[in-house]
Amino acid sequence: MTDVLAITDHRRGELRDISYEIITAGRELADETGGDLHLAVISGTVDEFAEKLDRDGVDAIHTVDYGEEFNHGVYSQAVTQLYDELAPQYVLAPNSVNGLDYAPAVANELDLPIVTDAVGLETDGDTLAVTREMFGGKVETTTELEGEAIVTIRSAEWPVAEGTGDAAIDAFDVEIDEGALGSTVTGFEEVGGGDVDISEADVLVSVGRGIEEEDNIPIIEELADALDATVSSSRPIVDNGWLPKNRQVGQSGKVVTPDVYIAIGISGAVQHVAGMKGSDTIVAINTDPNAPIMDIADYAIHDDLFDVVPALTETFE
Ligand code: FAD
Repeated sequence: MTDVLAITDHRRGELRDISYEIITAGRELADETGGDLHLAVISGTVDEFAEKLDRDGVDAIHTVDYGEEFNHGVYSQAVTQLYDELAPQYVLAPNSVNGLDYAPAVANELDLPIVTDAVGLETDGDTLAVTREMFGGKVETTTELEGEAIVTIRSAEWPVAEGTGDAAIDAFDVEIDEGALGSTVTGFEEVGGGDVDISEADVLVSVGRGIEEEDNIPIIEELADALDATVSSSRPIVDNGWLPKNRQVGQSGKVVTPDVYIAIGISGAVQHVAGMKGSDTIVAINTDPNAPIMDIADYAIHDDLFDVVPALTETFE
């Protein structure tokens, strides 16, 4: 039997989607050997979060009511103590900014192997096979681990857990050593782009190098307004400083899974596609019919964006 401890993620009072996806990943892993799935909810409004996370397949939820926002020291200490108490075979953490902050520290503290950015997991109880993508998704590799391990999982690779569970919810009696915290959270300031989180958007209007210059970005924003959508972009747009970093989709940006992703003047390089291939419906507007994005688009508009975008805006306004 392999028990799994999955750590959930939240930000500014909202649970992230990965918190529901990690339930599915953890349940599948635990099911392979008939183990239990434990969830940890650390900081924030833990009771409210625990209630929301009580979905099908969760055996127990442990809350750590300490602080509001993410703090490296709190998470590291809480996860280490939960591990010591519960003795799970595997710890799953989100491959998010937070997860990548504390998971290596916990692995170091517990002397456990860690594999990051998993897109697949399989175990026979002794060996854990972790699938990862390399070279921007061109190849997949499998890393095999014996015994206990920590794995961070990529967002949007497992479906969100549904249903209502009947997990045992308990307040975990954690002992936070404040002297060892190393930092305190005094406030929250978003870097550029205000509160926008493109990974939570339902509709994304994404702009690429085909837009030619910064002065043309407003036509994209007007279309986004007309569609009640959020603007995102490929990397060159961010590298040029035309949009803030938190709008970048892709391997070195964010993974997004909107209902609709409209790629405007984006070629569809593997590093970009790695971040948006999980979109439900992909619309591509491109003058090059052979651009890779056209192959994965559900609707490929082979035309000049400077004609198509204003026409679409007019239609939806
Ligand atoms: P281009 O590839 O230049 O494509 C522009 C497209 O616009 C072309 O297809 C062209 O036909 C079309 N076009 C031109 N004019 C018009 C017009 N008038 N109307 C309609 N279409 C038009 N990229 C990312 O996006 N995200 C990442 O996270 C990322 N991470 C990376 C990490 C690494 C390690 C590396 C090496 C690269 C990474 N890249 C990333 C960069 C990636 O390889 C591509 O260079 C980038 O995605 C290209 O952006 P683009 O599609 O906007 O530009």
